[in-house]
Amino acid sequence: MNLNDDITTIKGIGDKTAAAFKRIKVATVNDLIHTFPRNYLTYDEAVDIADTRPGERTAVMAVISSYVDTRTVRSLKLTNITVKDSTGTLKITWFNSPFLKNVLHKGDTYVFVGTIKIKNNMRVMDMPEYYRPEVYQGMRRVMQPVYPLTQGLSNKTVMKAIGSVRSLMGQIHDYMPDEIRSKYGLETLSAAYETVHYPENEEALRNAIKRLAFDEFYKFLADMGRLRVENIKQENIHKIVQGKAVAEFVEALPYKLTKGQAEAIDDILKDMGSENVMNRLVQGDVGSGKTVVAEAALFACVRAGWQGTLMVPTEVLAKQHFEELSNTFLPYGIKVECLVGSTSLKEKRRIYENIRHGLTDIVIGTHALIEDKVEYSNLGLVVTDEQHRFGVEQRRKLANKGTFPHVLVMSATPIPRTLAIIMYADLDISVISQLPKGRKPIKNCVVGTGYRQTAHKFIASQVAEGGQAYVICPMVSESDALDVTNVTDYTDTLKQALGGSVRVEMLHGQMKADEKNAIMESFLKGDIDVLVSTTVIEVGINNPNATVMMVENAERFGLAQLHQLRGRVGRGKKQSYCIFIDGKESKESQERLKVLENSNDGFFIANEDLKLRGPGDFFGIRQSGDVLFTLADIYNHADMLKLAQEVWSKYGITLLDGEETGHFTDNSTVL
Ligand code: ADP
Ligand code: MG
Repeated sequence: MNLNDDITTIKGIGDKTAAAFKRIKVATVNDLIHTFPRNYLTYDEAVDIADTRPGERTAVMAVISSYVDTRTVRSLKLTNITVKDSTGTLKITWFNSPFLKNVLHKGDTYVFVGTIKIKNNMRVMDMPEYYRPEVYQGMRRVMQPVYPLTQGLSNKTVMKAIGSVRSLMGQIHDYMPDEIRSKYGLETLSAAYETVHYPENEEALRNAIKRLAFDEFYKFLADMGRLRVENIKQENIHKIVQGKAVAEFVEALPYKLTKGQAEAIDDILKDMGSENVMNRLVQGDVGSGKTVVAEAALFACVRAGWQGTLMVPTEVLAKQHFEELSNTFLPYGIKVECLVGSTSLKEKRRIYENIRHGLTDIVIGTHALIEDKVEYSNLGLVVTDEQHRFGVEQRRKLANKGTFPHVLVMSATPIPRTLAIIMYADLDISVISQLPKGRKPIKNCVVGTGYRQTAHKFIASQVAEGGQAYVICPMVSESDALDVTNVTDYTDTLKQALGGSVRVEMLHGQMKADEKNAIMESFLKGDIDVLVSTTVIEVGINNPNATVMMVENAERFGLAQLHQLRGRVGRGKKQSYCIFIDGKESKESQERLKVLENSNDGFFIANEDLKLRGPGDFFGIRQSGDVLFTLADIYNHADMLKLAQEVWSKYGITLLDGEETGHFTDNSTVL
């Protein structure tokens, strides 16, 4: 066997398993080795059922005291059992695992590992792992990797597959010569891969992750280097000199620009009128008003006679921007279109035609904008919003659509300037550092689960006053199926708690694009009062009438991500509130979440989160929401990003001789 072989050459992997592997983008042995664990678990001694505490991952050794009951509820297949030890009983449920009926039997003893919850005064556990006691004994005190999974692929299957290619890890080529490697204290690539799958201890794992993060950053810098070579000093063939027209456009806005917004627009106008093409990043915290900056740039572009485009990561956001820009530009006779994946074929054809013939001035859309069929008549400006959600390749593809259009990217990721300069080496940076005046600061509170009912009442009272609310639902596991059940259950519970007059709907990532759009549109129109959602609403959505954001199990999110979520409220004139429910209520989680209570500065928050990380937190909670890296995170591995930059500035591309870098060949996921 060798690294480029198809995974079906691995014994025990048939077509069905291979298809499941494809869903997590694993086709070859090499891909398999590059599948990094999301996390590691250590298995502790089993405790008595009476001693278990809700919210904690626990092992209990118990006898199955009921028959294995399988049933179907709302298209979900449920498997229920009751288990007992000498101190108490526990109800266990699995979803979509009907085969368990043939595996588990009344009277058998197993160790069940999962998170304890209390439902109707009973201890329950959903989707626990289960082991024969003697097997469990062998696993204790060993760090077990937890791999990304999908339907039809269990952790056991992934572990087994990786086990059978373990010996190939030694063949991984290390592009970095030994002397350079040891100079910077980095270990070999093959050792790093071996350790990340089979960690001997925490320290070894930490070093392995460092090397792998370094690697991702180094290859990223190589790609950025290429992008820079393509961009730099490109002659500006779309001279845009529209200072006066833009001043009038700004004058007509219903508000006065902040200093940061005005400066960003100045920078952009200067760039677009200069000798070289613009490549600029506008960085500004969530709510700082980046959209209007993009509007001003697009306005200038269209006034100068060129087309402009705005790419965003989700359909919902595309629709919203479309509505807003159509309204803003209506009085100017500027024609705006919206192109997303779910646009009908007929409609798409019409839009393609209009774009090709220059009848459309501005197109807003998702990655549908970079499809080959989209040909512009005279593209002058490409704007990418929430750019961290796009791969380098997507950004580049869009920029290559016309003939050297100006490029403007917008991001709310609050990263330190030193890192921003490395990450966005190909871009000039404008920073919007203040929020618009007159915003009432959001009132925050961090509370325990005991406060939940009060929070629901509070939501009801806000709705009664004409406000709207978001409830971000607990993430219960790594499994999408389970998250969906959770959103569904929670929505039902909330409907009951709030009474019939409050309109509650749900939104989650597994819904079809059309459904999501429809729900989001009704929420924006005010036809839905409370939106129960997973984090799909995280980016960009603007509903100034929403005054409450409630986040369940807030302790499971990165603080920077919570800050982004919080940015969905406090966008209008009314007082807004953010309620973070701490499902763990430990000293650490309280301390972390208090940071949010005390600060509204995304930048400060992300830094504090980093400081408060526990020692067992290997990958950290991904803060940046960045799709560019698999394992590396600019916050968690800032030291490696800096080191990669240092090594890059000394050795550059020569180190990577003949290596694939990845970013220019991928089709990174887009939400
Ligand atoms: P973000 O930077 O998160 O993309 P948006 O562009 O969506 O923020 O702006 C958030 C809200 O603030 C919008 O409702 C927008 O109309 C409003 N807004 C933007 N700039 C100003 C300003 N200078 N004064 C008052 N409100 C503003
Ligand atoms: Mg925005």
